[in-house]
Amino acid sequence: MRKVYLDNNATTRMRGEVLEAMLPYCKDIYGNASSIHQFGRPARKAIDGARADVADLLGAASAEEIIFTSGGTEADNFAIKGVVHALRSKGNHIITTAIEHQAVLNTCKFLEKEGCKVTYLSVDKHGIINLDELKRAITDKTILITIMYANNEIGTIEPIEEISKIAKEKGVYFHTDAIQAVGKLAFKVKDINADLLSMSGHKIYGPKGIGAIYIKKGTKITQQTHGGHHEMNKRAGTENVPGIVGLGKAAKLAKKEIPEEYKIKDLRDYLYKGITSNIEDVRLNGHPEKRLPNTLNISFTYLEGESIILNLDMEGIAVSTGSACTSGTLEPSHVLTAMGVDAVNTQGSVRFSLGRYNTKEDMDYVIETLPPIIKRLRTMSPLYDKK
Ligand SMILES: *Cc1c(COP(=O)(O)O)cnc(C)c1O
Repeated sequence: MRKVYLDNNATTRMRGEVLEAMLPYCKDIYGNASSIHQFGRPARKAIDGARADVADLLGAASAEEIIFTSGGTEADNFAIKGVVHALRSKGNHIITTAIEHQAVLNTCKFLEKEGCKVTYLSVDKHGIINLDELKRAITDKTILITIMYANNEIGTIEPIEEISKIAKEKGVYFHTDAIQAVGKLAFKVKDINADLLSMSGHKIYGPKGIGAIYIKKGTKITQQTHGGHHEMNKRAGTENVPGIVGLGKAAKLAKKEIPEEYKIKDLRDYLYKGITSNIEDVRLNGHPEKRLPNTLNISFTYLEGESIILNLDMEGIAVSTGSACTSGTLEPSHVLTAMGVDAVNTQGSVRFSLGRYNTKEDMDYVIETLPPIIKRLRTMSPLYDKK
């Protein structure tokens, strides 16, 4: 049976070049990067090289602005908690959105229990925040604005440059969870004017369990992991050398290939067209244009996303309802709910997220496989019956 992987926003397949780059650091070059002997030195050198490659991909002014973490989740936690701890004397108010990833939302919820005040900005029907609402939310106690660059469920791209401009005017730090944007959109941290930015290896064809945070020089942030003097005294712990090397390689390849990677949009639009011309009562979730080139989130009205996913899985097609972190629960997506999507559509949402290994044949297979599944499920749906 054909296998079609369309869940690239959950994780990507690691590139062969990345694995090749990592292997020597899993085998012969096993020294501790902090040791000054001949076993440690090549590991240190590899970390320095990877840091430069990540800095280059993000357009950072210097490699010292990049700190390696155990992934995107840790980068988000570090950014938010680190600023809250550093700026305690200034204030305790954070502004974020209702559609963030759990790594940001649950960090904010935790901090609320510790006495922080959090404003969750609303979004419009396409998932975009309102800049006037953001301006109004800022008080003299606001210390951080944390807003994702692009949403993992629907792919909507937020007006990041306008947001950072507002933050700068008010003297508030701006952090962005750019985990879905990195490798898909061409941008430079200095152009988007972020003080802090999170990225993750396994979303850009790199290894899992490694990520990075960009911290603009001079940004006040308190260390969250204490121990040795690693990562310029910002994040203690023996470095994950193979992971860091893999992330560096993935970043280097991504930098070169973003324009090519963007062409995935044509394949995605071909899939959308194929689905909508064969199936009725389909709704596109997310912004029609301001959207990641690989993401297609659609609702099959009156159905449950889970049953569609299970049926597609039996045909070898891997998709998801939105977020890997919320699946398993029958709760509707917090993103679609915040966008005001009605109940008959939130349940039936399916996210197709494409990647560099997908082909037109993959799309044709989905376009062919999906209509009979939807038809069958709708004949069994009491809701569709009453339509
Ligand atoms: C995947 C993802 C994360 C979490 O990153 P991990 O490296 O898996 O911890 C956070 N935010 C967004 C938007 C993501 O897509």
